Amino acid sequence: MNPLGPQHVRELIRFVGLTRTRELNCSECRDAAGELAERRLAGLPLDEALERVEHHLQLCPECTEEFRALERILREAP
Ligand SMILES: [Zn+2]
Repeated sequence: MNPLGPQHVRELIRFVGLTRTRELNCSECRDAAGELAERRLAGLPLDEALERVEHHLQLCPECTEEFRALERILREAP
């Protein structure tokens, strides 16, 4: 029955902000890993989404391992 007070509104706004910059999960990371690897190899700048993928890689050893394998494949490709 209580209407939302200013404190609640602030919390909601903060929550929305947090979800927008939330961490990627592993499957999202893997979906974007190919693009990240290609851009890195080509020396192209990364957009915000790919920067988040890089951030996930720093935190996630499993994705890092997959990413390294992917980079190796790309580098050795003709
Ligand atoms: Zn991961």
